[in-house]
Amino acid sequence: MTPKTAGKSSKTVAVISLGCPKNTVDSEVMLGKLAKDNYMLVKDPADAEVVIVNTCGFIEASKKESIDTILDVAKLRKSGHLKSLVVGGCLAHRYGDDLKRELPEIDILFGLNDVENVAEQIKGNPLASIAKENAASTHDYKRAPMLPDSLNEATYVYDASSPRLLSTPGHFAYVKISEGCDLPCTFCIIPKIRGHYRSRSIEDIEQEAKNLSKQGVKELCLVAQDSTWYGSDRYGRPQIAQLLDRLAQVEGIEWVRLHYLYPSRVTDEMLDVMAKYPRITPYFDVPLQHASNRILKSMQRIGDRALLDKLIARIKGKIPHASIRSTFIVGFPGETDADFQELLDFLKTSELDYVGFFAYSKEENTPAGVMADQVPEKVKQARLAEAYRVQETIAEKSHQRWVGETLTAVVESVEDGEVQGRTQYQAPEVDGLVLIEGLKNPKVGQWLKVEITHAHQQDLVGKAV
Ligand code: SF4
Repeated sequence: MTPKTAGKSSKTVAVISLGCPKNTVDSEVMLGKLAKDNYMLVKDPADAEVVIVNTCGFIEASKKESIDTILDVAKLRKSGHLKSLVVGGCLAHRYGDDLKRELPEIDILFGLNDVENVAEQIKGNPLASIAKENAASTHDYKRAPMLPDSLNEATYVYDASSPRLLSTPGHFAYVKISEGCDLPCTFCIIPKIRGHYRSRSIEDIEQEAKNLSKQGVKELCLVAQDSTWYGSDRYGRPQIAQLLDRLAQVEGIEWVRLHYLYPSRVTDEMLDVMAKYPRITPYFDVPLQHASNRILKSMQRIGDRALLDKLIARIKGKIPHASIRSTFIVGFPGETDADFQELLDFLKTSELDYVGFFAYSKEENTPAGVMADQVPEKVKQARLAEAYRVQETIAEKSHQRWVGETLTAVVESVEDGEVQGRTQYQAPEVDGLVLIEGLKNPKVGQWLKVEITHAHQQDLVGKAV
């Protein structure tokens, strides 16, 4: 994760970034700040005196991964050079001092409002002064984070002037267009962690896009909790179409990819802009969560099955070759076999390209966490397996439509003679890849045309043209 940079300060620092691309952006701002303050950034935590773990606190599995990572890093105090274990991100913001009490291995804990203050926090003697200083500040965090948000609400969002060091391969970068969320999904703790919805200005995002383009970035992956609501808080109505229109004209950018669309907020205006510019990838990342009206209602999701069917038809109507990604929760409280069958039926009729399924995770301080009829773990896991089985068959069939097509691709990796890339239909890190054949002297970040020869449920095979 941490690019190696030489700095005057002798302190070596490694940053471990967990969770979603929005957290990746925060980690990159931390890296930028540390580099600016001349810290020696190292890739391997075992080589670092200070290790920063930027945690995820969304669901049980990600909380476990964060805690396991913290405990693994703590072992480096004996085997490595570790002097200070610093923890930030969503888990730190959600649990504050509870986390420190549970994990005395942690020296410094900071919340989401301190992303750009990370260097200050570790500047002095990481053990004494900062710990004391931070104990004071974390107390603020601690003031019962589950009390009304205002007490420890996250309000920070970076901007184009924030120092940032990319951790992704140089040809693509995530761009966080807004932070927070005000929607009431009953299974979700994010609004309580990340705070209210707050958009960056169009000019600020455009400036960052220009900065990134100058650095050689060709693909911008726009992320938020809900990208379709972009600008509503700042301009009085959604401005995602206007933002896309501006970004599609930034010189040097090949692809603008949009993530995290809220289904009921996908407007014809934004579909028209996406259809107008080839630079805006024909790619729709629309977390739908479920398809049974009863469960969607219980999740407090806006929209019902009819809206979801209409949305898929609208997307395929405007952009027939579009690739659609989604995520669903199985085993939500009260989910019956009939509800689950309705989800499978929706998968069969909508033929989505890339789908992630999650077993419902009971989260404290969420309305769904105290609902009756919690589904047994065994049933959740059985439905998870069945959903993946059904989706694999669907994707295997629907991806045949790309065979014979000549697509644009970018080389993602070259290993042991195998060249892996992505097409405009595949997002970084979550979707399938294209195995590229016949490319002489392949280089990561190289753009080319590929004729698709084979298609599978996840990956494609193509020859360079
Ligand atoms: S839209 Fe719903 S699921 Fe997504 S972050 Fe907001 S509350 Fe959570």
